[in-house]
Amino acid sequence: MWFFQTENGMFCIRYFREGYGLFIDAEYLSWQRDAEGAAKMVSEHRTGHKPWDSLGTADAPKDLSEWKLLEEIQGAANIKPTHDPIVVPLDCDCGHQIKESVARVRILRKFRCPACNKDITVGDKQLAQIMEKVQQEYPNGLIKSLRK
Ligand SMILES: [Zn+2]
Repeated sequence: MWFFQTENGMFCIRYFREGYGLFIDAEYLSWQRDAEGAAKMVSEHRTGHKPWDSLGTADAPKDLSEWKLLEEIQGAANIKPTHDPIVVPLDCDCGHQIKESVARVRILRKFRCPACNKDITVGDKQLAQIMEKVQQEYPNGLIKSLRK
């Protein structure tokens, strides 16, 4: 599987119906006998995806060698996955600590300690403290998405 990131989306070439399918994000564009043929469609701006095709000659990959393999994409994703939930520790009265995502803490507010089965409730004040701490530790973009 090969990928090429553009401003219009992520092109993907993968084995499909005994040939190779060209996709942008999850949208199927065309079928080619081989992966090189699919890459050529992108190089020549003949993909069927209008925003890309209308760019003419802008920043197209010359051939498949300029595409990234799935393994390279996954390697990059392992460094800093942006979709990872922000996790915060919550303390149980008896000293246990559990970890929950901020999104779950904000919505549920009430958890159960798996060690002693006691309730762990997050009050308004504690939630405010958690959000303040998260805000200091994480970039603005993530906080914006949390506040929605
Ligand atoms: Zn406990």
